[in-house]
Order: sequence, then structure tokens, then C-alpha cells
Amino acid sequence: MKAEIIAVGSELLTPYRRDTNSLFLTERLNRLGIEVIRKSIVGDDRARLREAFEQALARADLVISIGGLGPTEDDLTREAVAELLGRRLNRDENVLREIQARFRRIGRKMAAVNERQALVPEGATALPNPNGTAPGLWLEAGERIVVLLPGPPPELVPMFREHVEPRLAGRAGGVELASRDLRVTGMPEADLDQLISPIYTLYPDVQTTVLAAPGEIEVHLRAWSAERAAAEKTLDEMVERLVLALGENVFTTGGESLEEVVARLLTLHHATIAVAESCTGGLVAARLTNIAGSSSYLLGGVVCYSNELKSAWVDVPAGLIEARGPVSAEVTTALAENIRRRSGATLGLAITGIAGPGGTPEIPAGTVHIALANGEATKSRSARFPGDRERVRRQASQMALDTVRRYFLYANRKV
Ligand code: ATP
Ligand code: MG
Repeated sequence: MKAEIIAVGSELLTPYRRDTNSLFLTERLNRLGIEVIRKSIVGDDRARLREAFEQALARADLVISIGGLGPTEDDLTREAVAELLGRRLNRDENVLREIQARFRRIGRKMAAVNERQALVPEGATALPNPNGTAPGLWLEAGERIVVLLPGPPPELVPMFREHVEPRLAGRAGGVELASRDLRVTGMPEADLDQLISPIYTLYPDVQTTVLAAPGEIEVHLRAWSAERAAAEKTLDEMVERLVLALGENVFTTGGESLEEVVARLLTLHHATIAVAESCTGGLVAARLTNIAGSSSYLLGGVVCYSNELKSAWVDVPAGLIEARGPVSAEVTTALAENIRRRSGATLGLAITGIAGPGGTPEIPAGTVHIALANGEATKSRSARFPGDRERVRRQASQMALDTVRRYFLYANRKV
């Protein structure tokens, strides 16, 4: 079964509101084995709405709309669909009573315009809305299904789960979606694609999507199939080949974030960590504390932005900062070693850099140094990242966390 989603609302065509409901719907539909082949956003205009439904119904078996079921003049979805399908709109007394009861419950007087929400196209089923006034509507036209849902997410989400999913289940034609995700760090997208395109082109039935974010690339594999077991086997085989090609740049095939992977490794090795951050301003500590139970491995950190505090708080000799500059492998190494010693953590992690936009001829914007100390040795790395402050900081935090992950990879190998 193939579906289209129509998000209705002129506000969704402005820079101020975005259509997030369709992401939820797509995720739920995919689980039911229903592929979303197109989404559109249409303003509150009856003729355009009618046209959008007409075109969607020519392409898809299932058309779901979001919004425009409210009581006001600009809520036109119900009318547009009734007109298109040639259905009369009848007032449904049960629906009207439910709307009136809801107004009584919340202690408000029902405005006359709310009666419009009790209009149900001939042959349609009203879907109860305990969280708002507008009921949803389920219509069948020949082989096609049209579902009209209210816009507010607290109304749409429960209505879809309780009243739409059960009706759709079993009608999807036995096709299911099998999927896998790989997450990769430490290599540019072009390099990744060069390594993996000879593999994914061998699997034309698997939809391969490469999604790049600062410091991280996700490779999504999706296969629609009537034979689930065969599809799962194909995807497993593909994942194995991709991991072989990308090596330890793959940090998870299980959907974890990089900080989750690092947290798991620290816990597994009964290790603790402390951080000294300059250009990332606490981002690495913040990411590590995003995870429940982080107190068992993160002892803490300092944001030592000025040269003075690098010395006063983390014991970096002023002379070293003077001689090498604050953004240098030497100062970063000293920060990592000293934060480790001061905190008593197993590992000390430090980051310095220039987030930009300004830089110097010797040290351009985007330059970042990372150091990781374990008391015996200190590993330091540097990189120059493109982009604005936010991107540079994000990539720096990725590289810092990834340095910890790779440290444990090698620690593992020695065991
Ligand atoms: P109401 O009875 O509240 O008017 P409605 O069904 O007419 O409901 P809309 O008026 O289209 O829905 O939207 C109401 C609110 O729901 C919007 O202001 C917006 O906050 C949210 N909303 C609508 N469409 C979407 C969407 N596609 N994604 C996320 N939120 C949405
Ligand atoms: Mg509305």
C-alpha cells in the first residue's frame, strides 16, 4: 500500500511553523508496511486543497491529511474533500452531542461556529477526538482510503494510534519494511560514498540513504518486502559488507548516539573521565550528561576559556601558553594530563580551538586540538573544521568523544 500525506495550513507555508506531524505519521505508516511516496503542504484554500486531494488520490491508495478541521472560516479540509468526492455534508447528531459535552466539561459556552465540526461527509466514519473538538474522518472511495486528521499533535497522535492504525493494519498487503542504520564518524561524506557505493549499487532493491550532519554520517538501509526473513538476511549481509568497508569509522549499527557509545564503553571498562574544555564551552560534558546514569563515569569538567584560568584551574604553566599559544597540542596535552590528575579520573580529555569566525594567519578558524590522557600516555590529535561556530564546536565535540571511543577500541584489542 502506498500513501501520500497532505499537511494543510497557510501557516506551514511561512517561515514560522513546520510540519512535524508528517514525520510521526511516516514513521508509524512505515511500521505498518505502508510506504509514503509523497508529501505536500497546501495553504487554506479550497480549490488548492481539492486539487491536492485529487492528485494524491490518482497516485496513492491512502491519502492522509493533517489540519484544517477546526471551526473557523479558514478550516476547509472537510468541505474540499466532500466536494471532490461528491459527498453531501450532513450534520451528525452524535458528533454534535460529543462536541457539546466537551464544551460543558471544560466549562465553556460552545460558539455557533463549532457546529461545523459536526458535519460529516456521507458514508464517512467520524473518529473520536477526546483531546479536542474536531473529530477525525475516515472515508473510503472505491479502493482508496482518505483519512482527515486534526492538526494539533496532542490530538493527532492518539487519534492515529487508537483509531487509524487498527483500521489500516491488515490492509497493507503483507508488505513490510525492514531497516538498518549505520552511524559513521571520522570521515568525509565523499570518501564514505566512494567506499560504499560499489556495495549498495549491488542491492537495487534496498533503498540506501546517506544523511550527513556535522561530524557524523548516517547510512540508512530500507527494504520493502513481502518476505520479511529474506529482507532481513539481505540487510544483515549488506551491513556486514559496509562495516568491512568502513572499518572502525562505524561507531554503531544499533542506533546509538556517539555519547551513548562512549558511555557504554566507559561503563564496560569501569573507567571514569573528566574534561577540560575551551572552545566547546562545556558541550562535551553536556553531551555526556545527556545520558541517564552519567554520574557513574563522568566526574566533571571545567570550562577554561581564558589563558589565566587554564593556569589557575588546570595548572598549565603560563610559560607554556606563552611559548606555544593556547591553541596548541602542547597546551591541550597539559590540560588533559592535569585535569586527569586533579580529578582522579581514569581518563582526562581536553579540547582547545578557534571556533571562529576570526582566526590568525598561523591558526585559522576551525582549528581544534584534542588530547586524551590515561596517566601513562597522552594521545593528541588536531583538525581543521569548516563551517560556522556551531558547526566547528559540534565537530570538535564529535572528535573528542570519538577519540575516547577509539581509545577503547585499541584497549579492547590488546586484551
Ligand atoms: P483546530 O481545531 O485546533 O483549529 P485543525 O484541525 O483545524 O485544529 P489546524 O488549525 O490546521 O488544525 O492546526 C492547529 C494547530 O496544530 C496549528 O497551529 C499547529 O500548531 C498544529 N499543526 C497543524 N498542522 C501541523 C503539522 N503538520 N505539524 C505540526 N503541527 C501542526
Ligand atoms: Mg484550525
